[in-house]
Amino acid sequence: MSASPSEFDLIARLRRRVAARADVVLGIGDDAAILRLPPGRDLVVAMDTLNAGVHFPEDTAPADLGWKALAVNLSDLAAMAATPAWCTLSLSLPAADAAWLDGFLDGFLDLAMRHEVALVGGDTTRGPLSVCVTAHGLVAPRGALSRAAARAGDDVWITGTLGDAAGALRQWRTGEPIDPALRMRLDRPTPRVAAGRALAGIAHACIDVSDGLLADLAHVCRASRVGARVDVDALPASVALRAAFEGDARRALQAAGGDDYELCFTAPKTARLAIEAAMLDCDVPATRVGAITDDDGRIAVVTSDGAAWTPPHGGYVHFAA
Ligand code: ADP
Ligand code: MG
Repeated sequence: MSASPSEFDLIARLRRRVAARADVVLGIGDDAAILRLPPGRDLVVAMDTLNAGVHFPEDTAPADLGWKALAVNLSDLAAMAATPAWCTLSLSLPAADAAWLDGFLDGFLDLAMRHEVALVGGDTTRGPLSVCVTAHGLVAPRGALSRAAARAGDDVWITGTLGDAAGALRQWRTGEPIDPALRMRLDRPTPRVAAGRALAGIAHACIDVSDGLLADLAHVCRASRVGARVDVDALPASVALRAAFEGDARRALQAAGGDDYELCFTAPKTARLAIEAAMLDCDVPATRVGAITDDDGRIAVVTSDGAAWTPPHGGYVHFAA
C-alpha cells in the first residue's frame, strides 16, 4: 500500500533503529525483503494480531504493546522448537504519532534484540489501533514439535507458572489495584524460546498457552486423538498469584485464564530426567501437571484429593475444554 507523507516519516524513523543481521540480504526500504536461509533448515512462520480493546486494554503502554506483539509470535515459534530469525510488522495507527511509535519500538526492539530477531519489513496504515506481526524461525527438518504427537501415558508438563496474566486482567476488570508482578506478566510475557528448542527430540507434543491451559491442551488432545487428566492443584502458581487469589478463583485463573505464553508439552515418563536437565540448563522451571490418556477427546480435571473439578460458573472465564 502507498503511505501518506507522515507515514513515510514513521517508516524512516523506524528504519533508523532496526538492527542488522548477516542473513538479511535486503531489509526495510524496498518493495520486499530478501532473507537467506541456511542450507538444511526449514522455515517456520507464525502470525498473530493484537487489536485494541480485544487483545489488550486500551491504556496499555506503547512499549508494553510492542513487547507483547512480538512476544506472542516468538511464543508460537518456541512451541514449534524453532529458533527465531526475522519478523515483519503491520501497524494500523489512528494517527501518525512519532512519540507513540518510539515507545512501541522501545518494547518491540528490546525483545527482538534479546532473541537476535531482525525486523525486515512491514506495512504502516491509518486505522483503528491494531498490530500484526509475523515471525520467521528456523528448525532442522523434522525437528519441530507439533500438537499432534501426544501419546497415551505421556506426562503433561508446564513451563513457568500459570494464571498471572489472567489475574491481572481480572483485577483490571473489577477495578481493583493491579498487582505489579501480575501486570508485568500480562504486559511482558516471556516467550519460552530456549525451553522450546531444548525440548526438541525429547518432548512429544507441544503448544504455547495463549487461550488457557485447558483450551490449549484440548487442541493437543484433538490433534493427537488422545485425552488427558490434569491435577488442577499441581498447576504452578507464582507467589503474587497465591497472595492475590485463592481456592476456585485461583484454580480457574490457572486452568482457563489464558495469556500465559508458557509451553504445555507432553513427554514419555522415561524422559523425566532429560527434561529436568534440559529445563535446568535454560533456567526455566517445568512442572508435571497430569497425564495423557487414551480417553479420546476428554480432559478430566481433578483436585489433589482426586475429586472431579469444574470451574465456577459465570464470571469472565470462558471454559473452552
Ligand atoms: P510499498 O508501498 O511498496 O508496500 P511501503 O511504503 O508500505 O512500500 O513500505 C516501504 C518499506 O518500509 C518496505 O520495505 C516495508 O517493508 C517497510 N515498512 C513499512 N511499514 C513498516 C513497519 N511498520 N515495520 C517495518 N517495516 C515497514
Ligand atoms: Mg507496503
